[in-house]
Amino acid sequence: MADSGLPHRPKPEETPEAAAAPAAEGAGGPSKNALKKAAKEKAKAEKAAQRAAQEKAQAAAQTADDTAKDLYGKIPKTEDAVPVTRVKELSEDLYEKEVTVVARVDNARVQSAKLAFLMLREQGTKIQAVVAAAEPISRQMVKWTGGLSVNTIVQVTGIVKKPGVPVSSATLSNLELHIRKVYVIAEAAQMLPMQVKDAERPPPEGADEGQLDSEGTPLVTLKTRLDNRVLDLQTETSQAITWISSGVAQLFAEYMIKSGSRWISTPKIAGAASEGGSNVFEIKYFKRNAYLTQSPQLYKQMCIAGDMENVFEIAPVFRAEDSNTHRHLTEFTGLDFEKTFRHHYHEVLEFAEDLLVFILSELKVRYKDQIAVIQKSYPKAGDFRLPKNGKALRLKYMEGLALLKEAGVDVSEQERFENDFTTAMEKQLGQIIREKYDTDFYVLDKFPMSVRPFYTKADPEDPTFSNSYDFFMRGEEIMSGAQRINDVKELEDSMRAKGLDPNQEGFEDYLSAFRQGCPPHAGGGLGLNRIVMFFLGLPNVRQATLFPRDPQRLRP
Ligand code: ATP
Ligand code: MG
Repeated sequence: MADSGLPHRPKPEETPEAAAAPAAEGAGGPSKNALKKAAKEKAKAEKAAQRAAQEKAQAAAQTADDTAKDLYGKIPKTEDAVPVTRVKELSEDLYEKEVTVVARVDNARVQSAKLAFLMLREQGTKIQAVVAAAEPISRQMVKWTGGLSVNTIVQVTGIVKKPGVPVSSATLSNLELHIRKVYVIAEAAQMLPMQVKDAERPPPEGADEGQLDSEGTPLVTLKTRLDNRVLDLQTETSQAITWISSGVAQLFAEYMIKSGSRWISTPKIAGAASEGGSNVFEIKYFKRNAYLTQSPQLYKQMCIAGDMENVFEIAPVFRAEDSNTHRHLTEFTGLDFEKTFRHHYHEVLEFAEDLLVFILSELKVRYKDQIAVIQKSYPKAGDFRLPKNGKALRLKYMEGLALLKEAGVDVSEQERFENDFTTAMEKQLGQIIREKYDTDFYVLDKFPMSVRPFYTKADPEDPTFSNSYDFFMRGEEIMSGAQRINDVKELEDSMRAKGLDPNQEGFEDYLSAFRQGCPPHAGGGLGLNRIVMFFLGLPNVRQATLFPRDPQRLRP
């Protein structure tokens, strides 16, 4: 005890403070028990303080002889100005050069007292980093580095080297970073609800929570990924998918603006459920009720009546449908447009067909790298077929129906115009068209009037049909559109024919737009999430949606 260098500590009974402790109870002075208790507490506190002091002294002693003490730890203020290289920009050209990167710890592992490995990840791109104890790098630094918690954001300075053998688990398998310095920028919690590296592979179909694959790696279900979406977004695949979503919105806007279209924002809260559908969300609106719009349809048309000629919008669309399928959300991103025409609605149809050919072919060029990443998990991502001549394939609804009939599908309900194609029929037609015309994108025109909404213009030559069209990708619908009725009398008749009352609340503003005169126009509504999903061949629309909303999911 005497040579420990620590001062002698008196026993609790001896301490003057304990003896002088004030009375805790009673007016007759402190009881013996109260004094004993106070003394005990005091001793406990002292013991803890001593332990802390001991640890601090030990740590200080260690740092004193740690040759690397300035090379690791919390980032020092002086490091602010260091130029940082993006991980994905590292290449063999940088062999033997010193670089500094900022990345997350994808994995940390101590190999021995003298060697530790970090897998670093920046926006899905991974590189291995090694730290070896050799002057000035100390064993303490190796131990600390290997003990970094997964997902911590670090700044690493090191020399780019060629690894002995390619690092197969890294994206940059021919590079390795030999660590000189490593500082923590933001620390991650010790326990993560899900490992990002376990979510790199596609979610298993039909597996339950907690199952392992044949190699003992946890299978992370889609539910777990979506519950922990922030971590899931960090995977290489999610990073690439979110770029494709961004690309679809950008290309849509680019095409529209290039063609002189005006970018509009229409209200999402409406005083009445005016599209006639029952699939609207009712919300509280001060002392009354309001509704979330199921499309910008009526507003787009009112803009046309307002002489805006050519308009588009990118905005949320709400559907209160209890559809629990791979392609239905209760909130999705709508890409909408509406446009006047001179002679025939096919002017607008062609405009929309060229829009899709533009978006899909530009995605292939501009997002080649992202598509290649996604293809590793979803092999269909790279093989979306577009018509070779750059013109969309357009068939009439009845021609599509004939193709299905030829293939032996029972289409009697569709022939009687009682129902639209079922999802299964659409998919089968997509397969037939792919084989016959070598394209995954096509258009069906002239749908029966009975399966379209009231504002759709009937075909003047045969009013059983209508001037309406749907667009398909890999056999599933991504857009519905039509020429709209622009004559108020015809519009009111069409409403009545669909069982709607033109005098019903919510229609007066819409109808008066036509009473005041409105030019002929047509348009369409696309689902961004579906375009991404089908372009990449993803099995579920939720994977193409940042924070999906469906009948079961309202978080995160
Ligand atoms: P579906 O027949 O697939 O239910 P719909 O005909 O009801 O679709 P529309 O009202 O025509 O859909 O909407 C236009 C576009 O918006 C669709 O082609 C699709 O791309 C997208 N969309 C519609 N409903 C949803 C939804 N619930 N989730 C995601 N996207 C949707
Ligand atoms: Mg539709």
